[in-house]
Amino acid sequence: MNNLLKQVTDTFKNKWSSEPEVIATAPGRVNLIGEHTDYTGGFVLPVAIDREIIFAVSETLDNTISGYSVDYRNEASCTVGSYDPAHPVSWFRYVLGVLSELENAGHPLQGFRFVVGGTVPIGSGLSSSAAFEMAVLTAIEGLQQFKLSDADAALLCQKAENDFVGMNCGIMDQYISRSGKKDHAVLIDCTDLSIKTITMSTPGYSWLVIDSMKRRGLVDSEYNRRRQECEEGLKFAQSVFPERNIQGLRDITIEDLRPLKKSCDPIVFRRIKHIITENDRVLNTVEALQAGDINTVGTCLYQSHESLRDDFEVSCKELDMLVEILSEVDGVAGARMTGGGFGGCVISLIKNTQIYAAEQAIQQSYKPVTLPAGTKAEIWPIRISDGAHIIKKA
Ligand code: ADP
Ligand code: MG
Repeated sequence: MNNLLKQVTDTFKNKWSSEPEVIATAPGRVNLIGEHTDYTGGFVLPVAIDREIIFAVSETLDNTISGYSVDYRNEASCTVGSYDPAHPVSWFRYVLGVLSELENAGHPLQGFRFVVGGTVPIGSGLSSSAAFEMAVLTAIEGLQQFKLSDADAALLCQKAENDFVGMNCGIMDQYISRSGKKDHAVLIDCTDLSIKTITMSTPGYSWLVIDSMKRRGLVDSEYNRRRQECEEGLKFAQSVFPERNIQGLRDITIEDLRPLKKSCDPIVFRRIKHIITENDRVLNTVEALQAGDINTVGTCLYQSHESLRDDFEVSCKELDMLVEILSEVDGVAGARMTGGGFGGCVISLIKNTQIYAAEQAIQQSYKPVTLPAGTKAEIWPIRISDGAHIIKKA
């Protein structure tokens, strides 16, 4: 039993004087490549990681829902059917969002008690929110003995986050938290929601996460602006190629960029250039990973970072600094920011024998003046894990 599971189970027993009926876990994720492409119907290549949210629950006979967060150390409650998007306990809104969407989807609920805890760092771009939503949904499925398809589960949790919590995210985070597979990456087609598990052939290399320790802060407005610019770009492309059935940015090719550039607003052009080249890089990365072509994977990672920095403009000094430091270490195949940007983490594919050298280089050279003196980047290996599942059922 891992520490978190023990903590959540012990807390449940202390708090509610009984054993939980169902315990569910859902992982956070790292996106290997395909950034900001999900909400434009493109391709993404995430992995589920061994950082998780655990949700332990038991049904009650009344119509009260109450629960406790071991990380926030407080309790929250509501009545079945009365879900307030402005509930004063903000973490509880993620639970309420899922419950509200479950009721919308025709699953009546009854009272329950729960305890939640997690090891996904919050606001680091590893998607603790999607893991939380998926843990709640998976636990309720276990209690009520039904099971949604992975795509429907992801759509339900995405809706909870979009419509209830008010964060207009794409489908990737919820989908990988549900459909992740140990030791595999998952290629998601965000237009038709088909998925493919990808076997990665990278002998002698490991994926590492380097947390810049810069927290993302309030950047929802930037995120929404990028979405709007992508929509403008799509409309523009449709007007330039009226004879083609362009449904999404996904239907525009790299060859189309040159004619588009002539009369497109320069900012909008750079945004769609990122999306179109990034979709291409995802497919190239998949091929290269399967073929064991480490150099191509590395090149795609660096190019993705440059594109996010220069064209999509969602990187920041700290992330750029980490990629720069890594690029100068022998045996580093590639590196890029991962997640929405403006802070969070970098990922890197590194030769096993050079991991120590990479860590040393970061210790010595990562000294961002924007963060409190002495701030150190945290480095850890990605252990690719399974998606959400039930750990225990009474
Ligand atoms: P992230 O990039 O990690 O998804 P978000 O801001 O989208 O960041 O979501 C973080 C929010 O999710 C937290 O503020 C909290 O409300 C909720 N959350 C995440 N992890 C936990 C946890 N372990 N316990 C309770 N709530 C959590
Ligand atoms: Mg989130």
